[in-house]
Amino acid sequence: MTERVAVVGGGPAGLTAAIYTARAGLQTTVYDAGEPILARNAHLENVPGFPAGVNARTFLSATREQAERAGVEFVDARVDHVARSDDGFDVQTDGGAAEDADFVVAASWPDSSYLADFDLERVQRGSKTMLAVDEFARTGVDGLYAAGRLARQYHQAVVAAGHGATAGLTVVEDSDVPYYHDWVAPDGYFTGRGRDLPPGCEEVPEAERRDRERESLEALRDCSPAEPPTQHPRVDDE
Ligand SMILES: Cc1cc2nc3c(=O)[nH]c(=O)nc-3n(C[C@H](O)[C@H](O)[C@H](O)COP(=O)(O)OP(=O)(O)OC[C@H]3O[C@@H](n4cnc5c(N)ncnc54)[C@H](O)[C@@H]3O)c2cc1C
Repeated sequence: MTERVAVVGGGPAGLTAAIYTARAGLQTTVYDAGEPILARNAHLENVPGFPAGVNARTFLSATREQAERAGVEFVDARVDHVARSDDGFDVQTDGGAAEDADFVVAASWPDSSYLADFDLERVQRGSKTMLAVDEFARTGVDGLYAAGRLARQYHQAVVAAGHGATAGLTVVEDSDVPYYHDWVAPDGYFTGRGRDLPPGCEEVPEAERRDRERESLEALRDCSPAEPPTQHPRVDDE
């Protein structure tokens, strides 16, 4: 049976982790409470690939669409409890039914209260609690990973996304999926040299490559219209 991954948090870290696990064929669900702090940014100017920067809301919705295209399912709800089950974890959302998962990636800055059952190494920074992880985003609990700002990474979108990728790839490595690299190569790149196509790799014939390129340009054009920033909740209160 396909193993299941629950990613808690739909910011840059969680979305990127989910893209990697879904692309590797793991059944992946992102649970998101819907308050990504990157939505508060005025103009995102330090993420590579955007010469004049990008609207952060556009960046987030484009990354979510990328995850959806990779097969990620979304539950727009807050996770309030994760418990050990016989064969993995039960993920409980606010008011919803518990769903099972073989792996959990916590990417839910600044909240890890739903992990109260687990004996994790926690690090206090002012009023915020972060989780200690190893260099591959593993916590000390088998099957439980943490990514992004929650895992003490620098407070930048691209750092969070990169750490999410590390967490996602570590889940793949710890799963039953045979893994080499998540690579899309031109036709014959491996097989033209008498090599088998490695797991996790794809060779794309030229016509198919052109189709994908056309679709990618259309998808960029169709990205959600640029929204203005959200505000810090305390500013709205005053
Ligand atoms: C005003 C402002 C400007 C910024 N400007 C920049 C900038 O110019 N460049 C830059 O690189 N970075 C900037 N940042 C920082 C950047 O937004 C963060 O470093 C980055 O978003 C961290 O990513 P993350 O995925 O770890 O966490 P987040 O983006 O915070 O995502 C966490 C997600 O988890 C969800 N969540 C939390 N708890 C739960 C739960 N229990 N269940 C389900 N979901 C949950 C939240 O709703 C959120 O969507 C800015 C931040 C702010 C506030």
